[in-house]
Amino acid sequence: MSKLATGSLELANRAAELDAEDPLAPYGALFVESEGLVAYLDGNSLGRPLRRTAEEVRRFIDEDWGGRLIRGWDERWLDEPFVLGDRLGAACLGAGPGQTVIADSTTVNLYKLIRAAVELAGGLESSRTEIIADTDNFPTDRYLVEGIAAERGLTIRWIKADPSSGVTPTQAAEAITERTAVVVLSHVAYRSGYLADGPAITELAHRAGALIVWDLCHSAGSVPVALDEWGVDFAAGCTYKYLNGGPGSPAFAYVAERHHEAFRQPVQGWLGRREAFEMASGYGPADGIRRFVSGTPPIFGMLPLRDMLSLVEETGIAAIREKSVKLTEFAIDAHRTLLEPLGVTLASPAEAERRGGHVTLEHPAFRALTQRLWDGGVIPDFRAPQGLRLGLSPLSTSFGEALRGMETVREELSRVI
Ligand SMILES: *Cc1c(COP(=O)(O)O)cnc(C)c1O
Repeated sequence: MSKLATGSLELANRAAELDAEDPLAPYGALFVESEGLVAYLDGNSLGRPLRRTAEEVRRFIDEDWGGRLIRGWDERWLDEPFVLGDRLGAACLGAGPGQTVIADSTTVNLYKLIRAAVELAGGLESSRTEIIADTDNFPTDRYLVEGIAAERGLTIRWIKADPSSGVTPTQAAEAITERTAVVVLSHVAYRSGYLADGPAITELAHRAGALIVWDLCHSAGSVPVALDEWGVDFAAGCTYKYLNGGPGSPAFAYVAERHHEAFRQPVQGWLGRREAFEMASGYGPADGIRRFVSGTPPIFGMLPLRDMLSLVEETGIAAIREKSVKLTEFAIDAHRTLLEPLGVTLASPAEAERRGGHVTLEHPAFRALTQRLWDGGVIPDFRAPQGLRLGLSPLSTSFGEALRGMETVREELSRVI
């Protein structure tokens, strides 16, 4: 046993108080118990499964798939991506109906959106020859932008983002010009948790005549977003993070209604065609958001998301954000008491309004420490070169659990330094 850090007792008392007064605390029991788990601090990478999903999968196999067989497509499944998309749009994205779809992976959706956005903005024919991206965005976003720029003969203007912070409106304003076709940014930075100013940066892009694509992977189900109100053009994100859709669950995409008519699908498949089941020659896009679809939707993979959405609809995203802010605030306080004295630094915004649902701490020993933590049932994730990322998913994480995890980090760290 390592000796108790000064302030440990106060932290434990506070965690107990916060848990006792937490209106979302009862939701924790709805998730599947994991054997040997001490603290799950990676709900931002892979959310935990709901117990009810195990029953729902069984029921789906017996009744929907087994019972209805091929009839299921006509009766329900063909519409499911749009029905769930609308529910997600309403519960988490501030998106009115008919603009959100569940489909493909985030990577594929972003490709389709950015590719279409570049064409909408004028592409090669116009003077808009630049895509704006930032150096600290998630790798898939950077690689996609590089690939599309190469395909279309465009230039990338990179914003140099601070890895402990994120892209500020000032940086965006400096980068966006009359040559900008499309701006591609993450709303919540995957590394630092920095919460970008969505409405301000969207407006900056529009004022310059450019279009914007927001990556909402770390926002959806955690931070309220108001896509319609902000006037966002396009957005995409995962459902396996804060939306607990399960490993590799299909992603979502949002296309603002005003772009539907001109949106040109870069992956022309049969299910995005009008009157798809005519199987006719030649492609002509379906109406509305349906033209975003390429092929057969992964219905089975949407089952856990459907269950999680019911919870989010029940609690409301505002209550989730409220607890999320309290959790990250508590984690930062615990860091100052337990870990800062050991040389750990905070690599996330200190102010709550610029912070999403996770907190990143840095120390050179974290790379070696992560496996030991995992072996002991404390599961944060490691982000090179030296970041320990604590994802605090509000519906499944308690304050006591966060503290348990951080106490263990302290113990393990004091052992090796
Ligand atoms: C997790 C994440 C992705 C993942 O994309 P996939 O296609 O699901 O692999 C993309 N962008 C960001 C910002 C992420 O955090």
